[in-house]
Formats: sequence, C-alpha cells, structure tokens
Amino acid sequence: MAKGSCLCATVQFTVSDEASKMRHCHCSMCRKTHGALFATYFESSELDYTAGKDAIEIYESSPGFQRAFCNLCGSSLPERSSDGTVAVPAGLMDDDPGIRPEAHIFTESKAGCYHITDTLPQHHHYGDGDASRIVNVTRPVSKLGVVSGGCQCGLVTFEYSGAPSMMMNCHCSRCRKAKAAAHATNAFVPGDAFTWTNGEEHVQEYAHKGAKVFGHAFCKTCGSSVPRARADGSQYNVPAGSLTDDPGVDAKGHIFIGSKAPWFDVTENKPQWIRMPT
Ligand SMILES: [Zn+2]
Ligand SMILES: [Zn+2]
Ligand SMILES: [Zn+2]
Repeated sequence: MAKGSCLCATVQFTVSDEASKMRHCHCSMCRKTHGALFATYFESSELDYTAGKDAIEIYESSPGFQRAFCNLCGSSLPERSSDGTVAVPAGLMDDDPGIRPEAHIFTESKAGCYHITDTLPQHHHYGDGDASRIVNVTRPVSKLGVVSGGCQCGLVTFEYSGAPSMMMNCHCSRCRKAKAAAHATNAFVPGDAFTWTNGEEHVQEYAHKGAKVFGHAFCKTCGSSVPRARADGSQYNVPAGSLTDDPGVDAKGHIFIGSKAPWFDVTENKPQWIRMPT
C-alpha cells in the first residue's frame, strides 16, 4: 500500500493494488494543468481517499473529461475514468509506488524546450497498440521576443518580454507536490517584464506552511499552475508548462537533486546540484 497527498496535505489517499502503466505525458493539457513540461501518471484500480474529499474540485475540460485539483493548494489530483480505473499523478506519492516509467506519450505535443534523452519508447498519441515513433516538434519562438502563456481553461493569460533570467528544473518535494509531477521547471522573469493580460482575479495563491517564500498559484476554475510573484514584485516564477509559446531557452540544470523522486532518472547531460547552486 502506497500513500499520496496534495501539497497542503489536505487531500490524502492510498493506492492498494499493484500500480500499472506509468507513463510520461507530453500533451498540452497535462502541461498546462501541471505547469510542468510533462506529467507522469500511473494507473490504479484501488484508490481510496483517506482525507480531504471536500477539497476536491472538478474541472470538466471537455464533455465527460474531468480534471481534479485541491481547491486549497492547487495540486492536480487523481482522475477516475468511466471504467473505474484511476489515473494517479505520480508526483503526489509520499511512498514509492514501486513502478517505473515505461513510455512517453503524446510526444507530438511535446514542449519545444524539453528534450527526451532517455531510451523509453515514444508514442505519438496514447500508444496502446500504436507503433512507437519518434516525433520531435519544436514550436517556433514567439513574435518579437514576447512569450505568452495561460491556464488550461483560458481565463488566466499572461506574457513576458525578453528572456527569463534563469530557467531551472527543481526536484524539491514542494515543487514535486505543487506540480504533481516528476519535477518543476521554473522560469524566473523580472517583475517589470511580466504582465497579466487577462484574468488575474481568477488566480488563487497558496502560501505553504512554514515556508519563507515557497507558494503555489493556480487558476481557481481549472486548477492549472500559473505564475507567482515574489512578495516585492521584483520577479515572477513562471511554470514552464504554463507557456503557450516556446520560451526559446532550455532549463540550465537540475536543482535539489537530493530530493528527486525514486521513480525518475535524470538522463540529460546538464549540471545537477544537491540543493541550490551557490
Ligand atoms: Zn491541497
Ligand atoms: Zn496528458
Ligand atoms: Zn483556468
């Protein structure tokens, strides 16, 4: 039996069967919802909520297709399909689910700034019965150095100009829970280069207990991770998955690698730091 929970730990659940089909999904809906460059899900048919059911918010992204999130902290939550199987975001797990990723799916929609460097099969779409194919789509860098982004439901949109001062993959346990993913990829944008273009009033902020600066901002309606300003407004932390345009830069490396999920291996040749680079 493996336990999982959201960032604020209000929603808690257990998975009591053998997990199956752990896959990295690169579809644009997963990227927006999680704010990560890809999401990792596994399947379970025996998932039970042990706490916080009242905090589960449902967003119907298309008829019959639902996305669940915690209405207090914004973490994406497990989704039950009509046949009773549940797709569990692996990033929520407190315990090792004992399963390892077997493939990449929806690589057709992959973010241009993410490069697959492991040897897992890559599927254009779902991959069930589908021959594996390698597809690398790089979307063009946007117009005139302006990069736009927004949440999945479209209520919240933003843009920034110029290049981020830094883009980093973060494996700390808080980022993994906030994004419900293997790791976060955050772009740091100077405050004066960032503008909300729509729906700032739909953004909800969660300030993490006991943390000096860490928090998570999300769309109240769809639960997507969205940018969050530092208290003094000098910098915005922009989740790379929330970008609609290719930012034109890649993440520099991996930080807090000492907190990495046991089910995820870093295979790309980039610098790694146990905590923060000095
Ligand atoms: Zn929560
Ligand atoms: Zn997906
Ligand atoms: Zn939204």
